[in-house]
Amino acid sequence: MNLNLSEKAISISPSSTLAIDAKFKSMKAKGIDVVGFGAGEPDFDTPQHIKEAAIKAINEGFTKYTPAAGMPGLKEAVCRKLKKDNNLAYSPEQIVISNGAKHSLVNVFTAICNPGDEVIIPAPFWVSYPEMVKLADGVPVLLPTNEKNQFKFTIDDLKKVVTSKTKALVLNSPSNPTGMIYTEDELKEIAEFAVQNNIYVVSDEIYEHLIYDGLKHVSIASFGEAIKDLTIIVNGVSKTYAMTGWRIGYTASNAKIAKVMGNVQSHATSNPNSIAQVAAIAALDGPQDEIEEMKKAFVERRNYMVDRINSIEGLSCSKPQGAFYVMMNINSTFGKEYYGKTINNSDEFADLLLEKANVALVPGSGFGAEGYVRWSYATSMQNIVEGLNRIEKFLNNEL
Ligand code: PMP
Ligand code: GLU
Repeated sequence: MNLNLSEKAISISPSSTLAIDAKFKSMKAKGIDVVGFGAGEPDFDTPQHIKEAAIKAINEGFTKYTPAAGMPGLKEAVCRKLKKDNNLAYSPEQIVISNGAKHSLVNVFTAICNPGDEVIIPAPFWVSYPEMVKLADGVPVLLPTNEKNQFKFTIDDLKKVVTSKTKALVLNSPSNPTGMIYTEDELKEIAEFAVQNNIYVVSDEIYEHLIYDGLKHVSIASFGEAIKDLTIIVNGVSKTYAMTGWRIGYTASNAKIAKVMGNVQSHATSNPNSIAQVAAIAALDGPQDEIEEMKKAFVERRNYMVDRINSIEGLSCSKPQGAFYVMMNINSTFGKEYYGKTINNSDEFADLLLEKANVALVPGSGFGAEGYVRWSYATSMQNIVEGLNRIEKFLNNEL
């Protein structure tokens, strides 16, 4: 018998964000004084009214299977949200509720990719996109951007990578890991390009409410019926409502794609957790004022982090406009010796920083951004100050 494992599965690398987070948590459990900036997970608690809706659902026995693609009440709440926040009209059969936006994205690529189909992924990218595309037998085509251009691609850049095999473009605004946001005009141009070339746009809008400096999120699907039909919006409650552990994400797409995704999900996982679905209705329909509170804290942390990084010799970063990440440029440390070791890349920087300073950052390599490490500022100001103090000492060889 041949007991070889699946070559496709073997080719999938582990999520570097979750790997760093696991390392951080295990160091902490051992009593090590470590500060973690790994996984992007809000440090706030889930708002009380959301928890209460879940407790009520348990007490009322809402503990059985729901329809595989989500309960009608939550699909309707998602439609109301899309109308209210994005001025988009969708009907419930166009919505699929999944086990987090990560699962929604896996469903999307599974639904749209045939073997060899190319999916354009602008880099820096969130770690999971290329691996998800590979899992779906698609081919990730990376589109590099640079810090000088705010990590944004242009239509000319797109023209260079689009081929007859291009099936989709991944758009993530605000972006994880760069925090950049495409303007309404830029999005309009991207929409025109997608319509002209007949390619899907997988629009990951999970950070839509975490936008600062008075800027506003616009969904690319809102520029007319043609682009709406080609767009698959991915969103969820993890970031906006501090609900990472509840695992509820959703998509809005044309009904044909939604049906295919629902069918796949009906065999893969059945419905997402029934109680978490009720909690998600409370999140979407309930008071939204706690988002503003969280945003205020994020802005304060971002401002401190950006100013402090740029004041440290050898480090720099651009000011992100959304999400809760900062990409720190560490190129000037490469080739230099710290604690008897020469740093040659972001993995070596992150490893040595964790070993010597007990500070956990995610290396840029996992985001297609060598030369950078990612901070998440979804953690307390106290941790941020401590992390930056330690990194300053680390770079001065003072530890
Ligand atoms: N997209 C992006 C860009 C993310 O950063 C995350 C974070 N986990 C997700 C999707 C998935 O979120 P979740 O599965 O928690 O809904
Ligand atoms: N999306 C968050 C991050 O990038 C959480 C971890 C993950 O799912 O990758 O850190």
